[in-house]
Amino acid sequence: MIALLIDAAVAMDEIFWIQAYGDRQQLLDDIEDPATEQFALINYGPWDRLAGNEPFLPGVGPKPAGSNFYPRDVTRAEMEREIASGGARADSLRSLYTLVRRDQAGRLTAIPYHVAFRRQNEWAAARLRQAAELADDRGLRRYLTLRADALQNDQYRASDLAWMDMKNNSIDVVIGPIETYEDALFGFKAANEAFVLIKDREWSGRLERYVAMLPFLQQALPVPAEFKRETPGTSSDLNAYDAVYYGGDANAGSKTIAINLPNDETVQLERGTRRLQIKNAVRAKFDRILLPIARELIAPDQLGDVTFDAFFENTMFHEVAHGLGIKNTVFDRGTVREALKERGGGLEEEKADVLGLFMIGQLTERGELPREELMDNYVTFLAGIFRTVRFGASSAHAQANMATFNFFREQGAFTRDAAGKYRVDLPQMQAAVALLSERILRLQGTGDYTGVGQFMGQYGTIAPPLQADLDRLSSRGIPVDIIFEQGPSILGL
Ligand code: ZN
Repeated sequence: MIALLIDAAVAMDEIFWIQAYGDRQQLLDDIEDPATEQFALINYGPWDRLAGNEPFLPGVGPKPAGSNFYPRDVTRAEMEREIASGGARADSLRSLYTLVRRDQAGRLTAIPYHVAFRRQNEWAAARLRQAAELADDRGLRRYLTLRADALQNDQYRASDLAWMDMKNNSIDVVIGPIETYEDALFGFKAANEAFVLIKDREWSGRLERYVAMLPFLQQALPVPAEFKRETPGTSSDLNAYDAVYYGGDANAGSKTIAINLPNDETVQLERGTRRLQIKNAVRAKFDRILLPIARELIAPDQLGDVTFDAFFENTMFHEVAHGLGIKNTVFDRGTVREALKERGGGLEEEKADVLGLFMIGQLTERGELPREELMDNYVTFLAGIFRTVRFGASSAHAQANMATFNFFREQGAFTRDAAGKYRVDLPQMQAAVALLSERILRLQGTGDYTGVGQFMGQYGTIAPPLQADLDRLSSRGIPVDIIFEQGPSILGL
């Protein structure tokens, strides 16, 4: 069954090449240097995805904003003119599931994916139907069958609902045209991808238990009662998986470690979403990136506290912690999201980091987590900050990370010695986590837009000693991301 699913995934890979670039074979034939060829395969084209899509082959020119979803010569103005009047033609031009091309008269025309990629989709659909026959789990069988139909008619909703309805399957596959980031021109077009996944039942069970404790953890938050009146939901669908194959968009450039789907708002309203954490991808980033960083920046006597389990726990508790705290301001300023506008996103990520640590502390107090491992979570968290801010604090998420770092340093949660090595102080760290939790929840609960600006201005920048430490990492050649060694199609597309 897994072999069949991988084979279906390979078809998505082939489709994505066309969406992102065009003729893969032609491009590879034109490249002589094997390293450059591998780099083109990693990037699904001649543009470096982790360096703002800079071209790395001579004469290629900049990457078209609309990738290969539109004719190369299309302009924003032309597309907007063509869809302005509405109607069926406009709908098909901006559909998630069509390519835009020119007809013989040079007029824009939409080609449905199931027509444009008929061969690949037929191949994938046949494999999904074969896999369905092997499925013991009824929900999985139903999903695979409906997904096969969707690949052949571009109607995905029924299969999205079926995906949300299946709960007990061990094998999973996310497959089809899904995210729209590859269309940087309009964000209309979905790019094909596939994840073949195996559920980690032990971790998923642990997560379920922690999510069930959210109401208790909410009450334990270190804020006055009015900031914790809301009751967090406990029906969150959050599971851990190991990936056995990434294809297409999912495999291009940086590797995602978490998925939150489906994107269809109608399905979201009816069934919610499912969050999937990919454990072996997290593991690879831990081994290849986080550990080497820790060896440079964490004091030798605390290096043993940097562990994979703590890293994965911190990632997981971050996700769970999004459900804690406050969604509506206490002084009638509407939702926190509305009140904090563009400053809210980074602060919410910081909240999830810090409340995640707070939850770990609480669960340790309750005997749910081993006391001797609490230090692992703290030291590993600190090492994780270095990983995130390594490329500057320009993004909201990196800025929020920096704010946590500087706040913790100010509170003495860790110290830096003359050799540029960092060391966590356990009691001070516990106190700092509680203090920062309160600070963030108050900013959110009062909808204090100005206060968030001041807070980020005061704490959200990289100070010179840290910059010197980060520069030291660059000189060590520590990788920026991972790639997967995964075999070609098993059955032979
Ligand atoms: Zn988050």
